[in-house]
Amino acid sequence: MTTIGTSRRQISIRDDLAGLAPYTAASALDGVVHRLNNNESPYPPPTDVVSSMLAELKQALENSHRYPDTTVTGLRESLARYVGHGIQPAEVWAGNGSNEVLLQLLLAYGGPGRRVLGFTPDFGMHRQLAAITGTEWHDGMRADDFTLTPQHARSVIADVRPDIIMVSNPNNPTGMPLPPDTIEQLVGAARDSIVVIDEAYHEFARTRSVVPRIHEHPNLVVARTLSKAFALAGVRIGYIVAAEARIHDVRMMSLPYPVSSLAAATAKVALTHAPRLLERIPAILDERDWLRVELESRGLRTADSDANFLLFTGMTCSESLFEDLAAAKIAIRNVGPAGWLRVSIGTPADNRAFLAVLDRANPTSASFTDPEERDDDHR
Ligand SMILES: *Cc1c(COP(=O)(O)O)cnc(C)c1O
Repeated sequence: MTTIGTSRRQISIRDDLAGLAPYTAASALDGVVHRLNNNESPYPPPTDVVSSMLAELKQALENSHRYPDTTVTGLRESLARYVGHGIQPAEVWAGNGSNEVLLQLLLAYGGPGRRVLGFTPDFGMHRQLAAITGTEWHDGMRADDFTLTPQHARSVIADVRPDIIMVSNPNNPTGMPLPPDTIEQLVGAARDSIVVIDEAYHEFARTRSVVPRIHEHPNLVVARTLSKAFALAGVRIGYIVAAEARIHDVRMMSLPYPVSSLAAATAKVALTHAPRLLERIPAILDERDWLRVELESRGLRTADSDANFLLFTGMTCSESLFEDLAAAKIAIRNVGPAGWLRVSIGTPADNRAFLAVLDRANPTSASFTDPEERDDDHR
């Protein structure tokens, strides 16, 4: 006999999710001084913009007994105006970060029996979102030098026949832009599949956006975010741009009131001050180019980044360098291919603190091995 309330069936997670781990970005790392792990802006929004935000937030708070607009109209209007190229508010959908909107997209077009194709190394969340939604994940794999040629893309797409293709451009974690003819190949694939180009780093990049192509390709989806170049990672606003029919489908996957009135008010002010928020970009890119030369001059190799981070290798032991940096309260990322590490471009002070650890560690020397095997004067 079982008694209600005392005997419980231990329910386990869905079989297809066994082994999945929660997303951790090490932002919770205790005592980190130099956060070079999340590709955030190292600079907070300018104080005059924050003041304008506060005025709007006051108004939003005074109305906070009411639910926000569930159609997110005001924010979508601001985003459409910022994106340009004749994009209409009906062709934009926003959420609590672009990852949330991409989850909605996979709920709408993925799921059991559907296939999503990515080409690693690429943004790990794409694969995670496929797993969460029970969508079969196929890795098209880039070449050893992280390039993705149009020929390779075409042959994998023909093989896998994916329902959805997801690619970041510029790529995270390499920072490399896709060659124009590969972009053409992927955009062309939007005739048969949903093709998501994740342009999280668009504002840093020299390469053009595929947004203008949305009008000829109803299956093309561009994902963007205010978390990186706009210096608003904490506010949590991301969005997609796509044909109205796609937005309609994705919206059905959204919970009611998907954007807080406070986040929407903040983001609207940010978008009207876009040039002010984006004016730090040239300085960040100058630091990136400087840091790249510094790394190469120390015998390390870097990927050719078009974004606000660098992927580098050449360490005798990359894990060891990661640990040395952590001990110096500097967080970077080891999400990339084996032997490579990713460092976000920080303030000049952050970047110099990072280099100082490299100079102390001498990570290209033969004796630079596992921290456990070294004496402590290395750290
Ligand atoms: C940082 C990042 C995002 C942004 O995620 P949010 O949820 O909007 O903060 C999306 N895609 C890529 C490739 C990223 O690196």
